[in-house]
Amino acid sequence: MQPVHVIGGGLAGCEAAWQIATRGVPVVIHEMRPVHATAAHRTDGLAELVCSNSFRSDDAATNAVGLLHAEMRRLGSLIMRAADANQVPAGGALAVDRDAFSAAVTAALTAHPLVTIAREEVAGLPPAEWDSVIVATGPLTSPALAEAVRGLTGADSLAFFDAIAPIVHRDSIDMSVAWAQSRYDKAGPGGSGADYLNCPLDRARYEAFVDALLAAETVPFRDFEASTPYFDGCLPIEVMAARGRDTLRFGPMKPVGLTDPRHPERKPHAIVQLRQDNRLGTLFNIVGFQTKMKHAEQVRVFRMIPGLEQAEFARLGGIHRNTFLESPRLLDPTLRLAAMPRLRFAGQITGCEGYVESAAVGLLAGRFAAAERRGEPVAPPPPTTAHGALLGHITGGHVVTIDAGPRSFQPMNVNFGLFPPLAAAPVRQPGAPRLRGAAKTLARKQALTTRALADLDAWRAAAEPVSPA
Ligand code: FAD
Repeated sequence: MQPVHVIGGGLAGCEAAWQIATRGVPVVIHEMRPVHATAAHRTDGLAELVCSNSFRSDDAATNAVGLLHAEMRRLGSLIMRAADANQVPAGGALAVDRDAFSAAVTAALTAHPLVTIAREEVAGLPPAEWDSVIVATGPLTSPALAEAVRGLTGADSLAFFDAIAPIVHRDSIDMSVAWAQSRYDKAGPGGSGADYLNCPLDRARYEAFVDALLAAETVPFRDFEASTPYFDGCLPIEVMAARGRDTLRFGPMKPVGLTDPRHPERKPHAIVQLRQDNRLGTLFNIVGFQTKMKHAEQVRVFRMIPGLEQAEFARLGGIHRNTFLESPRLLDPTLRLAAMPRLRFAGQITGCEGYVESAAVGLLAGRFAAAERRGEPVAPPPPTTAHGALLGHITGGHVVTIDAGPRSFQPMNVNFGLFPPLAAAPVRQPGAPRLRGAAKTLARKQALTTRALADLDAWRAAAEPVSPA
């Protein structure tokens, strides 16, 4: 049987290779370290964690990344097996001894008879005889391969920086303050003319907001980021504010073309707009608010915006060096590049964010490639599972553009806003009190995770009636 080729021996590539080999399909991992270094990796180990040693919450009942852990364990993940075996104490989080974790992944793959590890850079498009390839080269993909991918996808479809605006859960926005309306009631393709939510600020609130932005603590750029120019159209909001007190009022917060239908007489001094971020309409991003402010500062400062006082954030803002595709437009539902289907993509380059999410997308790519090689049906997981929700974000659940504005696909961690809402509210036991506030949110999360694990088990049983070796 011809091997599947996996380019990149990081979190995604190692998980993909493991899933392929455990299904009886040979696999070659091409990893460029130590022959060529990246700006962040420090060792030649596979699955190196480049920064924190945390896989975040391990709570599968109420946390979306904890649910992803649980699903990965059920799907025979090597990354989770190595993480569990090399845990260090970290409260409710799953943290690992990074060297022992990387050594365990390297040892398991090296020992597998169907895995070959080639220490070499793939410095362009893979040769034509590689008929099944998974590109898992991560946020720091080597420039030669990145250029080759750009040649296939078009220059605008592979970004080298993410400019992430914060994303808010729709149900945490105070709609007695905000209202829905597009600027000048303009309807984009598929839009209604009311695709944005608008939060008005009077002069005093605007001045206080600008002061808070200017005083907030920020995260500095890393050395290798500072040398890459990013300043086209994605200035951090606090940098814009520093250019003049009215800069924001003439930029992302301009108060023109918008009227609160409940108070047409009011003329706000500035308006913050939020744009729908997923097809489900559960998430909204704050337009133009990419930022280098520290996370706690973002929560504090953005909750000063009228209507967002109770905002719950699905993702906070950031600007990082990151190589990622405009996946919803380029990839099919099984992560293949439409323009060259022998290439599949996995990991952070697809537009997920984080160690766990990258490994989970690697797991899916590996299963898809193995099924294809074995002549079996390739079935994506249901969107109600954490894997399916993440895959939906990458391959199609995202609103690519609602209006003629800049493309809005940006990397994202797994979160409950990506899941289809529950068909009905969680069942209340007879005599039990009506749930409100935090207790209601908790019950909703528990219902989402219960549904996810049941649907995952059904999918796994249908896709794989007999467990792989
Ligand atoms: P990687 O794990 O980066 O693996 C890609 C592999 O491909 C690398 O080993 C690289 O050497 C190899 N490669 C690249 N190009 C080629 C080529 N042409 N040929 C052969 N091999 C190649 N996430 C978190 O969850 N927590 C954090 O604290 C965190 N901190 C981060 C800090 C930095 C500086 C960066 C850049 C990212 C950070 N991330 C963090 C995101 C993290 O990189 C990803 O979550 C995760 O490592 C991505 O997994 P991956 O498999 O897609 O890529």
